[in-house]
Amino acid sequence: MMDNFERREIERMYRDGYGPTAISYELGISINTIKSYIRRHPSMKKASRCLYCGKVISQTKGRKVKKFCSDRCRSAYWNYKYRKGGNPVGKGRPQV
Ligand SMILES: [Zn+2]
Repeated sequence: MMDNFERREIERMYRDGYGPTAISYELGISINTIKSYIRRHPSMKKASRCLYCGKVISQTKGRKVKKFCSDRCRSAYWNYKYRKGGNPVGKGRPQV
């Protein structure tokens, strides 16, 4: 079985864009173990986050990919971008 260190490494590498083969090679864990880990943790596969506040968004399959968790974040994002002229990514606070 994998220990916590290995789990963290898998998730980190996977998010950085490594495939199961590369991860298996780097960590010396069997590729099937890694594949099944990825399958059992679909959230790390495509955790899309709100561009503005960083909250994890649950995507609806087959629909357009959402970029914001709420309309409020969407308009805050565009306001920030055009009024302040800065980069609003991650500037918001997560909304509950
Ligand atoms: Zn948001």
